[in-house]
Amino acid sequence: MTSLFEGNVAIVTGGGSGLGEAIGKELAAKGAKVVLSDINLPGAERVADEITAAGGTAVAVHQDTARAKDSEKVVRFTVETYGALHLAVNNAGIGGKHALVGETDLAEWDKVIAINLSGVLYGMRYQIPQMLRAGGRHCAIVNMASIHGTVAAPGNGAYTASKHAVVGLTKNAAAEYGPLGLRINCVGPGYITTPLLLDNVGPEVLTVLEGKHPLGRLGRAEEVAHLVCFLLSDEASFITGSYHLVDGGYTTV
Ligand code: NAD
Repeated sequence: MTSLFEGNVAIVTGGGSGLGEAIGKELAAKGAKVVLSDINLPGAERVADEITAAGGTAVAVHQDTARAKDSEKVVRFTVETYGALHLAVNNAGIGGKHALVGETDLAEWDKVIAINLSGVLYGMRYQIPQMLRAGGRHCAIVNMASIHGTVAAPGNGAYTASKHAVVGLTKNAAAEYGPLGLRINCVGPGYITTPLLLDNVGPEVLTVLEGKHPLGRLGRAEEVAHLVCFLLSDEASFITGSYHLVDGGYTTV
């Protein structure tokens, strides 16, 4: 039996931790050759080493997704290393500092928008032409939004704005490239136990957040990775331009 992603080459940005790590590992376990990019190169190298030790194929590369030139470099590196590009997950993102909209630190706003939104555009800007060179059909992109792509995160307007914009940008890209067979979707996780969350909030806040998910707990990175890998696969061949929640019910109440 052939693996789901046999013969496919994938880029995962922010692949050195959390959701990107889980997605990279699942893609590799299912046969993809994976390029893990991260601003934290040692983190991406650790994940690549673990994938290789488990019998998969992966390599790490440095990237700051807020720099368009880095996105171009990573696509070129991927094609030079593995010969093509079929799949991409524009996952890298940051939480940003807490502030009410009327008190927003403008430098912090620019930083969150640069990484969380411009980074996704820069990624697709260079990934899409390369995927079209690979034929377009059987190629796919998943962009990382959040539940805050559809509901507010009080105290974090930059994050909410960036994730809503990722949803809109994903729809635009899907509409534009659907006729060429390229599928582009985004996902909206609830609160997931990754370093982004655990390093930034204390136990009391975690308990409050758990209570906001009808399933009564936070999510696991692997639960997001399963959805992302499904959307990347040909099993999702009629799904494009949509925003898929994986949120334990957070947005139902
Ligand atoms: P994480 O902090 O565990 O991992 C994020 C990775 O991105 C890190 O390795 C970090 O070094 C890297 N990174 C940060 N800035 C970068 C940049 N400019 N260029 C390249 N890499 C960069 O966080 P995570 O929870 O895995 O988050 C991944 C994505 O998922 C983010 O876009 C985040 O907004 C989104 N998300 C997370 C949650 C959650 O609860 N954890 C929920 C919804 C959405």
